[in-house]
Amino acid sequence: MKSQRAGNTERKVFISNRDSTCGECGEHLGAKAWIALAGEKGALCLACADLDHLLFLPAGDAALTRRARQHATLSAVVLQWSRARKRYERQGLLVEAQALAQAEEECLADSEVRARRQEREATRRAALDRQYVDQFTTRVRELFPACPTGRERDIAEHACLKYSGRVGRSASAKALDEASVRLAVIAHVRHRETPYDALLARGDDRWEARAAVEEAVRRVLQKWGAQP
Ligand SMILES: [Zn+2]
Repeated sequence: MKSQRAGNTERKVFISNRDSTCGECGEHLGAKAWIALAGEKGALCLACADLDHLLFLPAGDAALTRRARQHATLSAVVLQWSRARKRYERQGLLVEAQALAQAEEECLADSEVRARRQEREATRRAALDRQYVDQFTTRVRELFPACPTGRERDIAEHACLKYSGRVGRSASAKALDEASVRLAVIAHVRHRETPYDALLARGDDRWEARAAVEEAVRRVLQKWGAQP
């Protein structure tokens, strides 16, 4: 039964100890890469595993972690093998931004949590290449003129985070071509405009889940692509 997975089995992401390559996109991920394991495909990068929109909450604040997990549709525990202790150790939780924000609201009385959020947001902001985000934002608006206000920036910031961590600046131009922008928009639409994350959370295979929402994604793209 697929649906049991949500209740019993936690989704897991591993910080790899050896050199890894993504079994789907073929990208060389190096050592210490964050990977998901997917049966015969072996390691998947977080982008291919559709977990790269989640934020990392380091272990250490039990109340915040518990609340964030409660509010999340999709989350994954991050594990790393400890040679010394010969066991996997929990490094933290990957969780949706809104679930984390909601959990933090509830913990807001705790000033230390507030300080940590500011620190994390500053780090996140620093990771964004402003110019690149602006260009990407403009491209999304050009290709999808009826996209709701603000979404083009969400899409661009996410794409920028993804590329800043994975490929060099030289790849930015390539990432701005129509096909790449389209892929970024599709990923966004899937997560934000369809029940895709809920399907993944209940244990559906990613390709089944994608097929299930394909028509909904197509309709949204058509709507967003229309001239206003
Ligand atoms: Zn990949």
